Amino acid sequence: MTGCPDRTHRRPLRGRLRLAADGWIHGICQIPSPNCDERPADESPSLHLFPPPACGRGRGGCGDGGSVTPSQESAHHLKTPVSLIVLHNISLPPSHFGGSDILKLFINTLNPAAHPLYPALARLRVSAHFVIHRNGLLIQCVSCRRRAWHAGVSQWQGRPRCNDFSIGIELEGADRVPYTARQYRSLNRLLDCLCRHYPIDAIVGHSVVAPGRKTDPGPAFNPSRLKTPLRVTIKIGA
Ligand SMILES: [Zn+2]
Repeated sequence: MTGCPDRTHRRPLRGRLRLAADGWIHGICQIPSPNCDERPADESPSLHLFPPPACGRGRGGCGDGGSVTPSQESAHHLKTPVSLIVLHNISLPPSHFGGSDILKLFINTLNPAAHPLYPALARLRVSAHFVIHRNGLLIQCVSCRRRAWHAGVSQWQGRPRCNDFSIGIELEGADRVPYTARQYRSLNRLLDCLCRHYPIDAIVGHSVVAPGRKTDPGPAFNPSRLKTPLRVTIKIGA
C-alpha cells in the first residue's frame, strides 16, 4: 500500500471537492481511522452564518466564489463549530517519503519492528482528518464532523484544545524539505472546500498552536502559495 488502494483515486483531483453532510468528501480516497471521537457538546451548535467568501487577497483568490447556496451552507453550520485548520507535516520513517506507514500509524497497524522509532509510535493513538502525499494524493481518515487527534496540547488565541474546533491536515513532508507543487494544488482544493462549508477564520501551523513543542509544518512551507478567502488569517510559523 503506497497510497490509496483504489486506482481511480490516484488520478489528479478534478473539479470542486464537496463535503457531504456526513463530514466526508466523497470521490476521494477514504481510509477511516478509529482514532477520533465526538466533538464536545459545548462547542455546538454554532449558528455561525457568514456571507459567501470574498475572493482575492492577491494570492490567487478562492476560485469562483460559491456554487453552494446559503441554505445548504447553514445546514452545515448549525451542526459544525469548526473554525480553525491546523497544518502539520509527517514522514515515516522520518524524512522518508512514499511509504504507507503514515496511514498505518493512523489506523493502528504500524509494525513496531519496522524501525527503531516505531515501538513508541505504535502505542500512540493519533489521526488527522486529511493526509496529502508528496504526489498530491488526498486521503481522508476522519469525518470532519468528528474530532481527530492531531494537535495535542494546544491553544489558539487563548482557546485551548484545538482538536475540539479544528480540522487537521497532514502533509507528507519534513520541516526543511520543500513541499511539492502537487501538494499545494491538492491542499488548495481542500481548503477551498473546507472554507465554503465551515466558518474557517484561521489556518495555522501546528508550531503556532503548540509552540516549543512542535515545529511543523516548518520553514519549508510557503504560506504565499495558499489560496484562501479574505476573511481567513494565515499564520504558519512563529
Ligand atoms: Zn503536527
